[in-house]
Amino acid sequence: MIGVGGLGCPAARVLATSGVPVALTLMDDDVVDASNLHRQILFGEDDVGDSKAEVAARTLAGLGADARPLRARLYPDNAEALFADHDLIIEGADNYATKFLAADAAALTGKPLISAGAVTWHGWALASAPGHTCLRCVFEDVPSGDTPTCEDAGVVGPVVGVLGAMSAALGLAILVGRRPFDRLHSYRGLSGQLRASRVKRREGCAGCAGQITHLDAARYQPQGCAA
Ligand SMILES: [Zn+2]
Repeated sequence: MIGVGGLGCPAARVLATSGVPVALTLMDDDVVDASNLHRQILFGEDDVGDSKAEVAARTLAGLGADARPLRARLYPDNAEALFADHDLIIEGADNYATKFLAADAAALTGKPLISAGAVTWHGWALASAPGHTCLRCVFEDVPSGDTPTCEDAGVVGPVVGVLGAMSAALGLAILVGRRPFDRLHSYRGLSGQLRASRVKRREGCAGCAGQITHLDAARYQPQGCAA
């Protein structure tokens, strides 16, 4: 689990208590912030200032889950080794650079990946795996300029709750042998509209064409925020 924030907390909570035996690694280098408690449901007021990864692992262990904290950030130089060690990656990072880094590292290591993001009342989720539509097929590259961020646009707690639970559901589907790929799931909180749109591999996609052969830090400059 990359990022234990608004998306990662509900996703981890659902996975940890799903009945499917999973060993979770919870990766986050941040600390619990009082202003995010409404959507980061594994933390309480007493946890403010403590490591998100450590508090989340403790909370889930209290529910009987096998969860270990990893107080670190995903970087080009640690991503491939970490991914190689896991069967499934769920990414609920709060910025696009990390989302694309996770997508490229998943492609390089041949691992299935769930990506998800949310801003204001809208969110999306995509399950990808080698041979299927990838994040770069859908969004092409790290956005630049005036893409809305959750830092300035905000994000609504229930919207990330829905997308976090959906990420866990897609992940469980993969773990039990299903193939929930080639669909972009979107959720509009104000209308309650949930849609699954078929998405195809994009011609010229740098990810699918194998043009990304290594994780070059220059490719993942922090831009925007998505959870
Ligand atoms: Zn692609």
